Amino acid sequence: MATLNELLDNFHEIACSPKKQLNAYVEQGKKVVACVPVYTPEELIHSMGFVPMGAWGADIELKESKKYFPAFICSIMQSILELGIKGEYKGISAIVIPSLCDSLKCLGQNWKYAVKDIPFIPMTYPQNRKPESGKKFTKASYERVIKDLEAATGEKFSEASLARSNEIYNEHNGAMRKLAEVLEQHPSITAVQRRDIFKSAYFMRKEEHTELANQLMEVLSQTEEKEGKIKVITTGILADSEGLLKIFDEHGIQIAADDVAHESRQYRTDVNLELEPLEGLADKFSRMDHCSVLYDPEKKRAGYIVDLAKKYKAKGVVVLLTKFCDPEEFDYVMIKKACDGAGIPIIQMEVDRQMVNYEQAGTMMEAFKDML
Ligand code: SF4
Repeated sequence: MATLNELLDNFHEIACSPKKQLNAYVEQGKKVVACVPVYTPEELIHSMGFVPMGAWGADIELKESKKYFPAFICSIMQSILELGIKGEYKGISAIVIPSLCDSLKCLGQNWKYAVKDIPFIPMTYPQNRKPESGKKFTKASYERVIKDLEAATGEKFSEASLARSNEIYNEHNGAMRKLAEVLEQHPSITAVQRRDIFKSAYFMRKEEHTELANQLMEVLSQTEEKEGKIKVITTGILADSEGLLKIFDEHGIQIAADDVAHESRQYRTDVNLELEPLEGLADKFSRMDHCSVLYDPEKKRAGYIVDLAKKYKAKGVVVLLTKFCDPEEFDYVMIKKACDGAGIPIIQMEVDRQMVNYEQAGTMMEAFKDML
């Protein structure tokens, strides 16, 4: 069995080398489909024999994408387009872009003109996802994605294959939920290592990632934990920047649990395997909650974060607010109010894929630590 360090190195290597992963799958004769955040029906893409690969942008300098986007749009969008224009997605068979926020809607339209050799497939989600009409709308949009994927690649969809993929994804969700609990018991796992574990899932087939997650849990179950750190909850779209995450470690702060779209938000809801496979997938989306891009007039996410902090006895909440992300900015007001009401210290840090200087973030974290 691999050692803890070997496993952590492996997660790190995969998380930091999406291009290598892409090339390896293409060399094996597999077709890869890029999946843009926040929720793309990966199960469906997986069921058609593709490797779904997460496309959440990268910490790179933006040049070409500026010709297509105004400066005040989130850097996740901008960097996805930049990578596309620079040929970093070469080898990918198609890109699926959901319509969950206004920026994402512009990305699809710009992609068509800027990256002509990779077909853009839109995934249109309903605003009201919970009523029967919403579920029907989601299902019809999935059918449109299937048709477009079939036309772009020649591959065929089957319900039987989707049933199997739904199972594989449920297993992976379960493993990731369990692993998050295990990591909470292991403060010696750094914030960067925790990020690697979550991030690597986007660049592997989920059955392979489940295997790695299970191995890690096995090894951690035999690892004695001596360290104790100050626990916090993170929330936001992305907690990817190594420079920023190192600040948590430098200050002896552990991410006990997260409400981050790129991390745990992906794994909260399973497909009901009792339903017809495609209906089950639409039903899964209808039951997803507590996310800035999922319509909720009651904004239950704020209470969810407070409950998360209480459950894990976290001393505070760190809001990693993606710059120019309207959905997250709107939610912040409610989250702050709820945390203040519950007496939980909260700090907001603006994050961006172009961040190079972390001094200000370090000072903020130091001041926050003193409050905890
Ligand atoms: S970070 Fe915010 S603005 Fe950017 S794509 Fe995600 S939800 Fe939309």
